[in-house]
Amino acid sequence: MSVKIFFMIFLCSASLVGFSQEKIDSILPVRGLCIAAPRPAEVAMFIDFIKKELVPARINTLILRIDYNYMYESHPELRDSDALSKNDVKKIVNVCRDNNIKIIPQIDLLGHQSWAHTPGALLRVYPEFDETPGVKYPEKYKWPNADKLYCKSYCPLHPKVHEVVFAVMDELCDVYETDTFHAGMDEVFYLGEDQCPRCSGRDKAELFAGEVTLLRNHLDQKNRHLWIWGDRLLDGKTTGLGEWEASYNNTSRAIDLIPKDVTICDWHYERADQSAVYFAMKGFNVVTCPWREPSVAVHQLEDMVRFRNSSTPEMKSRFRGIVQTQWSDATKFIDSYYGKGKEKHAQNEGSCFRALIEKMVSLDKVK
Ligand SMILES: [Zn+2]
Repeated sequence: MSVKIFFMIFLCSASLVGFSQEKIDSILPVRGLCIAAPRPAEVAMFIDFIKKELVPARINTLILRIDYNYMYESHPELRDSDALSKNDVKKIVNVCRDNNIKIIPQIDLLGHQSWAHTPGALLRVYPEFDETPGVKYPEKYKWPNADKLYCKSYCPLHPKVHEVVFAVMDELCDVYETDTFHAGMDEVFYLGEDQCPRCSGRDKAELFAGEVTLLRNHLDQKNRHLWIWGDRLLDGKTTGLGEWEASYNNTSRAIDLIPKDVTICDWHYERADQSAVYFAMKGFNVVTCPWREPSVAVHQLEDMVRFRNSSTPEMKSRFRGIVQTQWSDATKFIDSYYGKGKEKHAQNEGSCFRALIEKMVSLDKVK
């Protein structure tokens, strides 16, 4: 190929990329993946995946599930034994910055403070923060159980809990050089429990909203933004969405009590539920989150585009886009994406993400 022809092709493709970027941003501003942060040994592979797959697919948002997978300096006692160093994190930050991918680090707050029979780092180190200290960790976990233990929660009214929580939130936002933090806050089953001397008898919607507002206000002091999962703001019984995907413990009224600048991640895995419209009509920015069912994910993506196209300008700007979730570890997801995974669960996450990317690419081709 002559230098001249090569140069012409280069100019041509560069301008197409520029045009295309603007177009896809207007069709779907947020195109994201929510994934477990890699462990130190996985960082190189993770960066490779970002460069080879996420960048060409024009993924622009990465929610990184960190929890205690970082060598926190403010609270070293909370570090996982195999946690990312600052140097590891900077490698991820650099590749994302170079490719205009926004990183949103996540720590599960309020709920998800234990898994099966094991406390998470926060309650392991600070058991006094436990909302239900009377509920013992079972030797062998099974659901359902007499305690209705899904995951433990921390007590949002414990006088010391936010000192710790704020410190690790701030540290993550600093090291990831980001203005947005994801606090999880999904599937909070234990809240306002009778056995908690501070919370018993209190309104659960107000307790939930109080915690969201407190976290939001803390972030706002440094012009940072809060994202959360949306399930506690939906009424499980009225909608038929059940007690995971929506709330059976009277938290749903919190939707009218929290600040409107919190972004809602509206996850639905079995059907393309239309609740993004509900969140947007309440004044929230919303992204829809699929998981592992390709046909549902594609439907959700089509819905999001349709919502944007059939709304007033006020509403359109709140339908932000789509973020695929994944709940295995980073290697399993990446393996499954390349068709190498062994677990059915993980394989579906990978194929779902592929289907989503394929659909996004096709959006770009629509005139
Ligand atoms: Zn409490």
